[in-house]
Amino acid sequence: MPEREMPLPTVLEPRGRTLGAEERAAVLRVLDSAVLCSSFGSEARSLESEMSRLYATRDAVPETVACSSGTAALHLAVAAAGIGPGDEVVTTPISDFGTVAPVMAQGGRVVFADVRPEDGNLDPAAVEAAVTDRTKAVIAVHLFGAAADVDALRAICDRHALVLIEDCAQAWLGQDASGRLLGTVGDIACFSLQQFKHITAGDGGLALTGDRALARRMRLFMDKGWDRSEGRIHRETGLNYRMTELTAAVARAQLGKVTEVVRLRRERAGQLAEALGNVPAVRMPGQRRGHAWWVMPLLVDDNARWAKALGELGVPALPGYLERPLYANPALPGHPPGLCPRAEELIARTLLVLQWNERYSQSDVDHIARALREVAAR
Ligand SMILES: *Cc1c(COP(=O)(O)O)cnc(C)c1O
Repeated sequence: MPEREMPLPTVLEPRGRTLGAEERAAVLRVLDSAVLCSSFGSEARSLESEMSRLYATRDAVPETVACSSGTAALHLAVAAAGIGPGDEVVTTPISDFGTVAPVMAQGGRVVFADVRPEDGNLDPAAVEAAVTDRTKAVIAVHLFGAAADVDALRAICDRHALVLIEDCAQAWLGQDASGRLLGTVGDIACFSLQQFKHITAGDGGLALTGDRALARRMRLFMDKGWDRSEGRIHRETGLNYRMTELTAAVARAQLGKVTEVVRLRRERAGQLAEALGNVPAVRMPGQRRGHAWWVMPLLVDDNARWAKALGELGVPALPGYLERPLYANPALPGHPPGLCPRAEELIARTLLVLQWNERYSQSDVDHIARALREVAAR
C-alpha cells in the first residue's frame, strides 16, 4: 500500500473540525458585550430555541435546557425523573461514563442490561428482564449514532411506568429506519458538545423534552433550584450546570453546521461501503440509513489484531471502543465478569472503531478501504 504523507484529519486539529469565521465572530460578540454568564445574556436562551426548532416534529416542539456538559444534561434528566437513593435505572454497559455517573450522583443504582451483538445497542428483552419494582427509568444510548430500539423500549417503559431517557451524545440528527429523529421518542433526550462530538463548543450539553413539568425541573436543577423570575427562592435542590455565553455563542454557530456535518459523514460512509465492496471479514453496520456516524463501528474477528495492523497502515483504530464494560470499572464495584456476555464479546473481540470525520476526502476514504481490504487478505 502506498505511504500517505498526510495523516487523516482528527477532531483535535482545525482541519478536522468545522470551527471558522462564524465561531470567531460569536466569541468576539460575547466578549464585546461583557456579559459572559447566561443568566444575564441571550446566547444560551437563543441556543435553546434553535435546538428546539431543529428537533421540532410535526406534532411537537420540545423545550431545550442548555447546560455545561452532556453528563450535566443527563444529570438534569435523571434528577427531573426523580431518581433518588435506592432507585434503579437500567442502561447499557457500552457507553461513556457520563451515562451512569448522574444516576450514581443521585444515589441511584445502575442496572446493566446486555446489548445486541450487531450494533452494541440495548437489547429490549434484556432491559425487560432487568426491570424490578424499584426501577424508575431506562437510559437508552444511540451508540455511535445507530438507532437503539426506542419503540420496544418505549413500550417497556409505558408498561412499567418508567421514564425513558435517550442519550443522543453520539447521535446528532440520527434517525431510525423510518426516518424519525433519534431523541423524539423518549421523555428526555440529552446531547453533548464535547470536543469529540459531531459539533463542539469544547464542552456543553443540551437536554430536550416535550414535557413542560420535566423541562421546569431540569431548568431549576440547572440553576440551583432558582426560578429567577420569582425572586431569590430555591424551590428544590439544584446545582450550577449553567452553560456560559461564550460556549453558547460557539454552540449556536456549530448548530448551524450540524446538518451539513451529518450529511457529509453519511456521504463518506456510503463511499466507504462502495469502496470496500464485499469483504466478509469486516462488517459495516447493517442499518446504514439514518446512522449519524459519530464513528465508523466495524465488526471483525479479532479487534486487537485489526487495530494494530490498521494503525501501521495509517488508519488509527480502537479495539472495542472501551477497554472494559462500564460495570468493570473500579467506580462501579460489585459486578461479576460475565454479567453482559454480548457486550464483553464486542469489547474484547469483535468491535473495532475507526474515527469518522466530515472532512475526510474521497482519497482518505479510499485509503481506509484499501487498508481494510489489505488486513482482511492477510
Ligand atoms: C460524550 C458522551 C457523554 C458525556 O458527555 P460529556 O459532554 O463528555 O459530559 C454521555 N454519553 C455518551 C454516549 C457520550 O458519548
